[in-house]
Amino acid sequence: MTCPYCKEAARFVNYRTKTFTRLLGDLRFERAYYHCDQCGQGSFPWDQTLRLSPQPSGAAALRAL
Ligand SMILES: [Zn+2]
Repeated sequence: MTCPYCKEAARFVNYRTKTFTRLLGDLRFERAYYHCDQCGQGSFPWDQTLRLSPQPSGAAALRAL
């Protein structure tokens, strides 16, 4: 995992649980949390993946078929 702020190596801290309350019930998942000792920033790389790719990877995979 590379720190998105300073490009140094960030260390894995732990998994943090996030819960979304939906109409049909709670959607709960764990995501990895990383912390960079170089610049002191914490980051959730999975969140950035979502932000950087507006299209769900599943849709792209379906189009490829
Ligand atoms: Zn950093």
